[in-house]
Amino acid sequence: MQIEEFIQAIKADHQEPLCAFIYDLNRLRDHAQHVIAQLPERCRFFYAIKANSEQPILRALAPLVHGFEVASIGEIAKVRAVSATTPIIFGGPGKTDAELRSALQQCVSLIHVESIHELRRLQSIAADLDTVAPVLLRVNLRGPLPTATLQMAGTPTQFGIDEALLPEAIVEAQRSPQIDLQGFHLHSLSNNLNADEHVRLIAHYIDRVHGWAQEFGLRVRVLNVGGGIGVNYAQLDQQFDWQRFTTQLGALLEHDDRAREWRLIFECGRFVTAACGWYAAEVLDIKRNHGTDFVIVRGGTQHFRLPVSWQHNHPFVVVPIEEWRYRFTRPALQDAAITITGQLCTPKDVFVRGAQVPRVRAGDVVLFVYAGAYGWSISHHDFLSHPHPEQIFIGDV
Ligand SMILES: *Cc1c(COP(=O)(O)O)cnc(C)c1O
Repeated sequence: MQIEEFIQAIKADHQEPLCAFIYDLNRLRDHAQHVIAQLPERCRFFYAIKANSEQPILRALAPLVHGFEVASIGEIAKVRAVSATTPIIFGGPGKTDAELRSALQQCVSLIHVESIHELRRLQSIAADLDTVAPVLLRVNLRGPLPTATLQMAGTPTQFGIDEALLPEAIVEAQRSPQIDLQGFHLHSLSNNLNADEHVRLIAHYIDRVHGWAQEFGLRVRVLNVGGGIGVNYAQLDQQFDWQRFTTQLGALLEHDDRAREWRLIFECGRFVTAACGWYAAEVLDIKRNHGTDFVIVRGGTQHFRLPVSWQHNHPFVVVPIEEWRYRFTRPALQDAAITITGQLCTPKDVFVRGAQVPRVRAGDVVLFVYAGAYGWSISHHDFLSHPHPEQIFIGDV
């Protein structure tokens, strides 16, 4: 069944206006399988669960991915609730002693260390527990790097160790019997849409890491190239060309002897779950204020903050619902440029401004597409205390 028909079918069972996140788990599995199957040998694919950590999503992905990337103890617990054995990578720009200790006790596969102070604290905690911490140093590379929507490195951010301070961190890690320095972590940007640039970025990473390996006599085993594969919200038919990317990456790894001994880890979030999710919100009202046509839906950006966070018009379709329960005229617009808002009492509660639609009526459902990543998970759910959306999982749950 197509998603539009599914919405029409569930609408018929709903007394109250519809407001739901819908996830298609079969679509998620097919996509993840396809993505992982195309990766060159020596690559490992982890899912960064902050993009969407709903339990059915994690359960669907656990048998397919090589592991999960997490950034809190809460996220470790979410992963362990679906799998006792899936490998976990633990990162994040600020970690407490208790979090480092807990990550070691729970035997995470790798810890991303983001500062020299953190490295020292990890050493003493590992000594305390009489263990050795498996570590990648997260490096904030000197720019310039390719541009994308969000930039974590090559520019001042809180992430990683400034490349200028890296020698000190490497020497410190090498000296410590409590630290097993396996390599480096270089998640530098998010939402990159260009496959060729992403290959160039990884080639650049290999150059840098090889340089450090030579300089410090390091045996690198792991290069974590991060996530950051993008989703094109503005032009849905022009998505990141994963096949082109993996083909070029395969050629690069084939010919570049320097990386022969390394495992390359990907830890993608957005690219994994964005397309399998929708946010469906029924039109409550339509009005024209000061020359602008507003469509007000059940719900709001407290459920789906992504368009506000990115200041973009989120892509959507209008699903027609024929049922109309009132005896008076149904508010409707034809061939109109609409602004879609939610129920919040703030003018910032906007999903879309000035988008052209052939028709929209009160009682139709606005279906936001590519809502499966950084949708519900990044939103401030209880602002204004409206009910939460339903979470509906379709496919083999
Ligand atoms: C958020 C994050 C990811 C996932 O990023 P996407 O852009 O969703 O692929 C990967 N690694 C780290 C360290 C992150 O913080």
